[in-house]
This record gives sequence, structure tokens and C-alpha cells, in this order.
Amino acid sequence: MNVLVVNCGSSSLKYQLVDMTNESVLAKGQFEKIGAEDAIFTHKRPTGDKLKKIQPVLDHKAALKILLDILVDKEYGVIASMDEIDAVGHRVVHGAEKFAKSVLINDEVMATLEECSKMAPLHNPPNIQGIEACQSIMPNVPQVAVFDTAFHQSMPPEAYLYGLPYDVYEKYGVRRYGFHGTSHRYVADRVAELMGKPLSELKIISCHLGNGSSVTAVKNGQSVDTSMGFTPLAGLVMGTRCGDIDPAIVPFLMDQMNLSTKEVDELMNKKSGVLGISGVSNDFRVLEEAAEAGNEKAQLALNMFHYKVRATIGAYAAVMGGVDAIVFTAGIGENGIGNREAICEGLEYLGTALDKERNNVRGKDTEISVEGSKVKLFVVPTNEEIMIARDTQRLAK
Ligand code: AMP
Repeated sequence: MNVLVVNCGSSSLKYQLVDMTNESVLAKGQFEKIGAEDAIFTHKRPTGDKLKKIQPVLDHKAALKILLDILVDKEYGVIASMDEIDAVGHRVVHGAEKFAKSVLINDEVMATLEECSKMAPLHNPPNIQGIEACQSIMPNVPQVAVFDTAFHQSMPPEAYLYGLPYDVYEKYGVRRYGFHGTSHRYVADRVAELMGKPLSELKIISCHLGNGSSVTAVKNGQSVDTSMGFTPLAGLVMGTRCGDIDPAIVPFLMDQMNLSTKEVDELMNKKSGVLGISGVSNDFRVLEEAAEAGNEKAQLALNMFHYKVRATIGAYAAVMGGVDAIVFTAGIGENGIGNREAICEGLEYLGTALDKERNNVRGKDTEISVEGSKVKLFVVPTNEEIMIARDTQRLAK
């Protein structure tokens, strides 16, 4: 079975065509600047050849048409006809409380997805556009939705409720949802495999550290708490997002700086985090270079990030009554050797022992704790696409 995995952003579409007989990627690529005259389309095959085209791409449907033409193209294609696409899996950001699992899409699901859009007005509408485009071009191919929030639906109310009046939760759905669920699910599964133990018997803390970052407590295979909240702004200090702050700061700043709701939202989402603290960059590589060159603010931003990850790990060990493994994934988690070392410094009381030599690794499945460490430490490169493809195969069958 071949599964096309589609991830639509407001002006982007990323895809992978996966052969599920051996989970190999037949082709992958992306469209950027959809809606513009100079949209960028890149398409890669495992052979290493790469096609890059700049052309007008009106909308997601137009992008999908170009993509399907390329997949069957004589020169750049990987399949003989569109009939060889057996199912499509879509990443959907927000499933609210409606979806605790991936789902085969039908009219009822589409109506519910529209309802969920009010929770994620920037993210869900392009996800829906992608699904509609596939439905109109491939009406007989099953489509599956895989949600970023679904994995966290297992959290207990004491973890997902905020201390606001209960009606606010009931009327407006204001609660912790959590994000990056597909990634946390993938790395937790993989850690259990690497440890040779059933996931149902393990307490794992999963650290997805990228431009957006979150930590999740995975107890017996279920998310029991996670650091992102009602939106992906909560929790850790991130690339450009502030993470947890005293909520009273919001009205205070709106008054003091004369900001609108949109402006204060932009301040917290785009101008804060390690970028806002350092004034240098949201890229951790650039921050590390600046810190080494003596930039104190860059070092402070890094320290704040490491501190908050470490504090959250400690909290989740308490939540689960212990921890068997801590896993690092995403851009910083997979590649940030010094970042991992700094985060682990001070966690030894939990029973962790980092092996500095083993930690000298980037982007591959590795145990980075010393032999016999009571709590194991791992690097596992995330693979959300393969999770989407697996769920799609299972539901489309
Ligand atoms: P992601 O959002 O998962 O794509 O992660 C992107 C972030 O990963 C970038 O902003 C960088 O800060 C970080 N990153 C990538 N490579 C490295 C590296 N070698 N060392 C430290 N951070 C890295």
C-alpha cells in the first residue's frame, strides 16, 4: 500500500509518498509561498535527485495537482499512475475534545473539523483546505486525519483544567490540549523498542525541542501531562514564544504599551522566547556561537531554556512517581549536543548518568546514558510522517 502524507500550512504544503510494505519514502518535498506568483516547489527522490521549480501556485488544490502530476511524471515520477496512491493521511493540528485518535474522514468528520477551527484559526483552515483539495481530485481514495492534540486526550482533568471558573471550560473549551502529540507518541514507542520493554510498563519523559518545544509525561503509553496548553504558546521558553508567564502580565502590558489583543499576541508568539531575551536569534546554533563569543544575553537565553526544560522534567518525574527514560527529539533535541548536556546537568538525583561520549551524536537513535544508568537517556529523531502513514494504512484498510 502507498500512502501520501500531506501537511498543509497557511502558505505551504509538505508531502511524503510512503510505500508501506517496507515503510520506505518514495518521494518527498514541499511547496512554499502558496498563493504567490513565485511559489517554490521542491521534490526529492531517495536516489538523491532534486527538482526545484518557481512558479505561480494559486492555492492548495493547485499545489496538489502539480504534485500529483510530478508523482506520475516520466522523468521525475515514482509511480505509474494515480491509482497507485491507496490512501492519503493528513496532519491536522487541532482535534479539540472531539478526536482522541486518528479518524477516517467522512462528511460528519469534516463538519466537526470545521467546529474545531475556532480553537486553531491559523492552523486548522489550511489543513481542511488540503483535505478538500484531495477529496476533489481523488474522490475515491480514503483520507485519514491525524491530530497533533489527540495523543494528549488521555490527560486526567487535574492536568488539563486551568483554575478558571468551570463554565469557561464548558462554554468555551478553555483547557490544556497539548501539541506535538504525533511526535511524542512516535519517540515514546521507539524508546520502548530500544529498551526492549513494553510501552505499557514504562514511564517516559519526551522532550520535543525545536523552534516550538514541548515536554510530555508518558506513563504506560499514555500522555498524562504536557507543557503546551490551550495553544502552543504555553510551557517552555521557545525560539520566539514566551512560554509560561504570569497571565496578569497580558492586561498589564496591553495597558502600559497600549497594545491591541493582536499586538500582544504577536509580542508573545513572534518576538519573545530566546530571540526576545538574546536579541540575537531564535536559532540555537547562532545563540551558541554568540554565547561562546561572549554575548551574555545569548548565554542567558540558553540558560533559561535549559532551566525550564530541566524544571519540567523534574515536575513530570513527580507526576509519574518516577521515570525510566528521558528522550530528546526535534531540531535541538536531536542535534544540540551541548544543549542536552546542559539540560541533564543537575538531573542526576533522578538516577540519570549522561555519557558525554555517547552524547556526541546528531540525528540518530542512540542511548546517551552510561551503561547501567538507572534512568536511561536517549536521542530519537522524530518521524511524524511515518506515524501518520501507519495510522492511515490501519484506518484505510
Ligand atoms: P525544528 O523546529 O525541530 O525544525 O528545530 C529547529 C531548531 O533546531 C533550529 O531553530 C535550531 O535552533 C535547532 N538546531 C538545529 N540544528 C542544531 C544544532 N546542530 N545544534 C543546536 N541546535 C540546532
